[in-house]
Amino acid sequence: MGIGDRFGLEGAAQLQAFQAAKDQGVTITPVWNKSNREHSLIGTRPRDVRVEADAAVKACQWSGPYFVDADHIGLATVDKFVGASDFFTIDVADSIGKPASDASIARYMAEMQRFSGALRIPGIAEPVVVDPASLQEIASKYLFAVEEAGRVYRHIVQQKGEGNFVTEVSFDEASAPQTPAELLFILAALAREAIPVATVAPKFTGEFLKGIDYVGDIKRFAREFEEDLAILEFAKQSFTLPPALKLSIHSGSDKFSLYPIMHRAIKKAGAGLHLKTAGTTWLEEVIGLAAAGGEGLAFVKALYHDAYGRFDEMAKPYLTVIAIDRQALPTPAQVDSWGAQEYVETLEHNQACKRFNIHFRQMVHISFRVAAEKREQYLALLKSNRSSIESHVSHNILKRHIEPLFLGIAA
Ligand SMILES: [Zn+2]
Repeated sequence: MGIGDRFGLEGAAQLQAFQAAKDQGVTITPVWNKSNREHSLIGTRPRDVRVEADAAVKACQWSGPYFVDADHIGLATVDKFVGASDFFTIDVADSIGKPASDASIARYMAEMQRFSGALRIPGIAEPVVVDPASLQEIASKYLFAVEEAGRVYRHIVQQKGEGNFVTEVSFDEASAPQTPAELLFILAALAREAIPVATVAPKFTGEFLKGIDYVGDIKRFAREFEEDLAILEFAKQSFTLPPALKLSIHSGSDKFSLYPIMHRAIKKAGAGLHLKTAGTTWLEEVIGLAAAGGEGLAFVKALYHDAYGRFDEMAKPYLTVIAIDRQALPTPAQVDSWGAQEYVETLEHNQACKRFNIHFRQMVHISFRVAAEKREQYLALLKSNRSSIESHVSHNILKRHIEPLFLGIAA
């Protein structure tokens, strides 16, 4: 399970949630993920995540594996992550649709010819129809992207050596969800590149916005998710792929309506899963500060005030993953009039609470740069409000994510 931590102080509190899950009999491997975008917006370096993860593991005496994920890297950005990371999410969405060479496409088509016809895949109701035209289409859309993943993978191998890191390949930032046939032949191509892919992140139907619940057709998601699990199983039997290959869901956090569906599906299939959450630990810090009142509350009110006035600047890097209705945002003057409870209840992701406002939550989520600009003051507040913040951080990961998804306990 991927966890994000913008300011790097919550590693131990996050890990406590994993420890609690382990005590309940489910061992989940923590993966601290941070993308290049996030590092550059906040002024951290990959090294900082490694230091945080190692310190958290030591402090909590965590004895299981853990990883530091270079999230959404490509050839242009991977180098600065190589020393600190041992998990690489190779993002090739930008290469989708770029043409592979004719010779390469011809070789691929020839090798895939054996799947021509109506493929019956256990777990998928309708046969997957494969013909030269559909194969050609998939090859022209995805083959170059997979070759690019191979180039990035081999570039990392040159520096870290084979077997010393975990590889994910992500297509989740593609413009459209992949069909079962596309996923199958993407996996075939990944096997041809000899990438020992541990997790693959397809794009799913619907919107996976930052910090709020799924927006989309839940039934359709459920069907796609089960089909993708079935495709993974079939691909493992058909191509040379790691037996432990899993789906990775770049959830953007808080996909509460999907967790029970995914839980049932992975149980039924006996499959593993990698869930990536976004940096919503940052929101728990804001909640912790608001709940503490006094200086903490004053800081998070001022933060909102500042970010509200710089809306476009805050939103720009996140336009595809947020949906904020500015009319539905409280004005800074309104927020200034709130007490601790109103701030917390408006921000905290409790759908049963009338005050909860998904627009306010998304707005605060993208406003972390304002805190980064006042780093010294912010970090000092985090340090002086440790207990309030840590309990929010742990509780959020354990009760809202791990329990419903991995333990099947309703949130
Ligand atoms: Zn992603």
